[in-house]
Amino acid sequence: MPSSIGTLSFSELASKIKALSVASPEEAEAQFPGSPNFAKYIAQLFLEDRLFDILPRLETQLQIVRRFFPPVRPALDPYTSTQIGIFSKRFDDYEIGRFLGYPECCMRSFAENVRYGIDEGHVQELKGSGMKAFATTAGFIPCSIFCREAQNRGLLSFIEPNEIGNLRALEKETAMRLPHFHPEYREHYFEVRLL
Ligand SMILES: [Zn+2]
Repeated sequence: MPSSIGTLSFSELASKIKALSVASPEEAEAQFPGSPNFAKYIAQLFLEDRLFDILPRLETQLQIVRRFFPPVRPALDPYTSTQIGIFSKRFDDYEIGRFLGYPECCMRSFAENVRYGIDEGHVQELKGSGMKAFATTAGFIPCSIFCREAQNRGLLSFIEPNEIGNLRALEKETAMRLPHFHPEYREHYFEVRLL
């Protein structure tokens, strides 16, 4: 079966969450030195059986990602993200970012330059790149569309315009099979810019 860096990246994130489903809060803290409080919190929720519906959803999303093998990882199912506390303000952005595999350079750029999304700077970079389009994991903001680290982690990729259809199909399928109640994130798992 063909694989992709986006598939590998998603599968890695899914493995982290699965590992927390069987770890004690203390073990979780030790296993995730970059996000100790966040990891401990997730393990505690699993322990209290408050995340019982997360693992089957994660498995479904993983199957979908494997079928489409995207060049970048789609965002985690918004229901799962909400349940494990990714959108809550109780954790430091760096703890969450490290857990999601975001590079330090990108997190710094997000925090220090207050970038809220793909912006004019990214689009200007695309214009100078000689490429026509790029895609990122929704919710992830690269320090630059040339960031090697983000590319290596399956969070960012230049794409050909004809690859966009595959990404949209993955989004549609995920939204259909994993319904949730976040209107603003419906069918939105990638960020794509096309010149
Ligand atoms: Zn970066």
